[in-house]
Order: sequence, then C-alpha cells, then structure tokens
Amino acid sequence: MTHRKVAELLAAAPTSQTVTVKGWVRTFRSNRFIALNDGSTIHNVQVVVDFEQTPEAVLKRVTTGACLAVTGKLVASVGSGQAVEIQAESVAILGDSDPEKFPLQPKKHSLEFLREKAHLRPRTNTFGAILRVRHALSFAIHQYFNDRGFYNLHTPIITASDAEGAGQMFRVTTLDPVNPPRTEAGAVDYREDFFGRSTNLTVSGQLEGELGALALGLIYTFGPTFRAENSNTPRHLAEFWMIEPEMAFYDIHDNMDLAEDFVKTVIRYALDRCADDLAFLHKRLEEEEKTKPQAERALPLLEKLQFVVDNAFERLTYTEAIDILLKSKPHKEKKFQFPVEWGIDLQSEHERYLVEKHFKKPVILTGYPKDIKAFYMKQNPDGKTVAAMDVLFPGIGEIIGGSQREDDYDKLRTRMAEMHVPEDGLWWYLETRQFGTCPHAGFGLGFERLVQFVTGMGNIRDVIPFPRTPKNAEF
Ligand code: ATP
Ligand code: MN
Repeated sequence: MTHRKVAELLAAAPTSQTVTVKGWVRTFRSNRFIALNDGSTIHNVQVVVDFEQTPEAVLKRVTTGACLAVTGKLVASVGSGQAVEIQAESVAILGDSDPEKFPLQPKKHSLEFLREKAHLRPRTNTFGAILRVRHALSFAIHQYFNDRGFYNLHTPIITASDAEGAGQMFRVTTLDPVNPPRTEAGAVDYREDFFGRSTNLTVSGQLEGELGALALGLIYTFGPTFRAENSNTPRHLAEFWMIEPEMAFYDIHDNMDLAEDFVKTVIRYALDRCADDLAFLHKRLEEEEKTKPQAERALPLLEKLQFVVDNAFERLTYTEAIDILLKSKPHKEKKFQFPVEWGIDLQSEHERYLVEKHFKKPVILTGYPKDIKAFYMKQNPDGKTVAAMDVLFPGIGEIIGGSQREDDYDKLRTRMAEMHVPEDGLWWYLETRQFGTCPHAGFGLGFERLVQFVTGMGNIRDVIPFPRTPKNAEF
C-alpha cells in the first residue's frame, strides 16, 4: 500500500515529498481546489489541481462524492485554513459520482433526511465524527476491562430462556410460517423446530455472564442485544449493543464504584483521543441549541463531558429520591405527567428532574422496590427493596442498570415462584447457587446511550451505523 492517510499528511512536514492519497471529494471550487476526505479524520486535505496540466475530461469528473487517487507534492499551503496542501501531479478517477443524483450536497442536511440515506451518511462530517467516536469508546471499553483483569466472555445470541423479562423478544425459528407442525392441541410444535424448542434472540447476556463470573472471577460481555419493544423513543433501538460486566465477590457498593470509574475512564479516553471530532460535535450542538430558549439550553458538549469526568456521581436511595420528588416544585404544581409515590417505576420525567434540575450531575439510585425489579436482584434485609442500582445521566436518563445478584438459593427460588418465573428453563442458573455460590454483582451499559451522551446526539438512531427500529430494517 503506497498511499497515505489524510490524517497522517495533515500532521506531516511539507517538504515537497511526493505522496498519494485516496478519498472522496467533498467540494471542488474554482476548478482548482479539491477538498478530499478519506475518513481518517474529520479534516479534508486540500488538493490543488493545475488545470493546464490536468485533462479537461478528468476535471469534469471531479464532482462531490466522486472517489479519487491523487499523487502530488506535499507543500506548505499559502491559503488560510490548512497548514499543508497537495499540489496535484496526477488525478485518477476511481469512482464517478453523478452530481445531479448524489444525495449529499455540500450543504446542511437534516438528520431525518440522512437516516433515509444511511448507506451514504458516514460520508458526512457529523456521521464520520460519530462513527470514529463510537469506535474509540468501544476500544476504550475493551481496554478498560483488559487492564483490570476482566475476561471477555462471549455469551449466546440465540437463547431458549425468556425469563429475563427485560422486554419483548424476537423469535428465532426455521419452521415454515405458512404450515408449521402442530401439537395435538393445535399449537405450533416447537419440538420440531431447529433447536427442538422455542428460541429467541437474547435481551441480555447477564445470566450466562454470571456463570462465567462464578468461575473466572471477573468477566464482561460486549455484544448485540435485541428487544422487540414497540417504543419509538429517541433512546430505544430494537438492536443495540450492551456491555455487561459481572464480578464475583463484589457487593452493590463495589458495583457502583466500578460503574462510575468505568464510564469516567472511557469518556476521558474519548476526550483525549477524539479531540477534533468532539470539537466538531461541540460546535454542531451549540448551533442546534441556539434555536432553543436560553433556559432550556444544555451545557456545551465539552464542558458537559469534562464535568462528568471531574465530579463524583450523586448516590442516594430510591426512597430518598421519592422524598425529593414529593417535595419538588413540579410535583406540587402538578406538572409531572405521572404521579409520584413510593413503589412507582420512575418515569423519564422524574429521572430527568433529579439529574438535570435537582442534583445537576449524574446520579446513582439504589434500593429499588423489589416489585419493579427483576427476580435475580439481591433482596435487602428490609424485605421491601433490592440491591439494584441505576445510573442516570443528563439528557439520557438511565444509562446503566445493575444490581448485586441474589446468591441465596432458597431466596432466589422463592422470588422466582412469587414472580412466576418458571424454574425448568433456568435449572442451570439455579445450580450456581447450589454449587459454591458467592456474593456477586454486575451491570449493563447500553453502548448507544453512552455514544449518545458523548457525541451529544439527541436521537439514538444517529449513533449506530444502521439502526433497527419498528418498521425500519432497510440497509
Ligand atoms: P429503559 O428503562 O430505558 O427501557 P431498561 O430498564 O429496559 O431501560 P435494562 O434492562 O436495565 O434497561 O438494560 C441495561 C441498559 O441497556 C440500560 O441501562 C440502557 O442503557 C440500555 N438499553 C435498554 N433498552 C435499550 C434499548 N431498547 N435500546 C438501547 N439501549 C437500551
Ligand atoms: Mn426497557
């Protein structure tokens, strides 16, 4: 490979060395200046063509969207805006782009429009930046756990257990949908199906993750997760990526400490490594915020990220949070849409009040009522609450959900019976509580919610390359 990355050239000294770059044309001005981008950085390299040397037929094909290979001298730029530029000696067209038809014109497109063009939107500044930040965060997550002795455990994507209760599941089947085998009673006979039983796409790798932790000590999963929830919100996808660490010998406090250190560390990594992309996203958000009234404007992106990295998260119990909400102005003035009382599942408006209005920082809530949480959470001595923890972020709401796990065999079985969780599909999970059980804890971080937070994007559909949402699986 003899061509160089744009990112590399922009940082190189202009010693008139001959270089080759390959990339896509962003703009072509005055039949002379090509802004070329190859995805290695948000910045374009300026290519100056000599129109006397370059055949007219080639120049005509240099249009926005076309793909070029350019060879020329890397020299100091005389124009403002860039330190170096390439004086082209040869321009080869690798791929033409019909300027009449190319959807990405050199102007601002709406995010909605770009969702319809998800096959091309990575070529915009905004999506290039988001995808590079997404990669950096993913890398930082693996690095974080690897540095601390966690093993990456690959939990299954196809699962027979639907006991998690985290949401509606997608069925996985090879049965003929028109004429499936039937039981005598007339129901679809899944014993005839590929796995000899009914199977689904996983909603969480946690239960298998626990099996790993109870042997390897510290594990994490980082995989795709599927929820057929028909909720068209800016925070839910049908297919998203989740990071789920699971730790033997951790209690709920160790769990909170890890969660806080973990998100801070990966955000710090993005701040260090993605300075140019974040600076661009910062400006982008600032423009967007200008359209809102002063009082509703969010903190500028870089300030917000620095703030999260520098400040301790507020930790309090669910019960304390309910007291704050009951005493709050919006509650007294009946401004909340949903009622507040002990026992409710906090709505997004409640979480946002606590995070954005009351504490003005990330919040970790613990000690949730057992009836609104999953069966596997450790029961507290009060008999009413469980050792759950949700990490709530400004603008996002819940970014992490976790708990200390119930490690007592009898308590776990009793709770499963109370919650009508069938034991037969989970015998293997229960056995870990019979053979060398121990205190352990873990949590799940929705990767796209983290990317949303770090990039400042309001809609989760814009932080994953090809979003899957109700009625939408194009591309
Ligand atoms: P929410 O109340 O926001 O729907 P949840 O309680 O269903 O979240 P968990 O089951 O605890 O979430 O999942 C762990 C994490 O996965 C959440 O904290 C969130 O970051 C993320 N998450 C959950 N559902 C989705 C989704 N549909 N799309 C993207 N991320 C999600
Ligand atoms: Mn949910």
